[in-house]
Amino acid sequence: MGLLTNTTVLITGASRGIGEAMAMRFAEAGANVAFTYLSSEARAQALEQKLSEMGVKAKGYKSNAGVYAEAEKLINDVIADFGNIDTLVNNAGITKDTLMLRMSEEDWDAVMDVNLKSVFNLTKFAIKPMMKARKGSIINISSIVGLIGQAGQANYSASKAGIIGFTKSIAKELGSRNIRCNAIAPGFIETDMTGELSEELKQTYFKSIPLGRFGQGKEVADVAIFLASEMSSYVTGQVISVCGALHT
Ligand code: NAP
Repeated sequence: MGLLTNTTVLITGASRGIGEAMAMRFAEAGANVAFTYLSSEARAQALEQKLSEMGVKAKGYKSNAGVYAEAEKLINDVIADFGNIDTLVNNAGITKDTLMLRMSEEDWDAVMDVNLKSVFNLTKFAIKPMMKARKGSIINISSIVGLIGQAGQANYSASKAGIIGFTKSIAKELGSRNIRCNAIAPGFIETDMTGELSEELKQTYFKSIPLGRFGQGKEVADVAIFLASEMSSYVTGQVISVCGALHT
């Protein structure tokens, strides 16, 4: 029996990167996995197949997390297919990095919609079944730059800082309903999002990270497993950094 057997997790943006690593770890822990993607259809199908072969129920849904109506439909579909949502992981995210002088309104709005409004959208509809079940864990994927800022990432950093305020408010608002809400703030994690960095730049970043390397998606996923499980039953409203002490 796994730590999360007989529970269901919904993870947004799991066709690649940290979300995919989380889907795999949740399945290893025995959870049934509902997940979303936006455009990586083939990767999503392959993941659904891999998760099913691990002996859990798994299904990928094409759904834009930044669109309110799509979030409502998604939650209804997941409830119809899985019966309940014990854990919601708001993971979907994008970057549109550029200096403030060059940042367009579109760059700002796109990042806010996918990174921050999505957290509102999914939480808004997921808490109804959670309140009915009198339990739930919401895990929001923020970022270290939401805590410390980053030149060229004013839109991204603002969206990730917004997630932290949202997380703490939901923890206070829904604690009495036994719904916990926490954030994870990853540092540099090896995914497509960091894959575009040159080897030279990576070496420079490694020098500022006490653990001397980028993290792996699995290392973020392990913290999510803790936050989803009863092992964290008295932990809510917190931000846990997974950053190799880049920020401490
Ligand atoms: P990634 O490799 O670029 O993967 C992003 C995932 O989000 C993909 O599955 C993508 O789906 C999905 N997605 C994008 N837009 C979406 C939308 N509108 N609706 C639904 N899904 C959408 O990113 P990652 O590095 O794994 O990052 C995951 C999360 O961790 C993000 O919130 C990111 O900000 C955060 N984070 C990452 C790092 C890092 O170093 N990598 C550090 C701190 C925080 P498709 O494949 O279909 O496009």
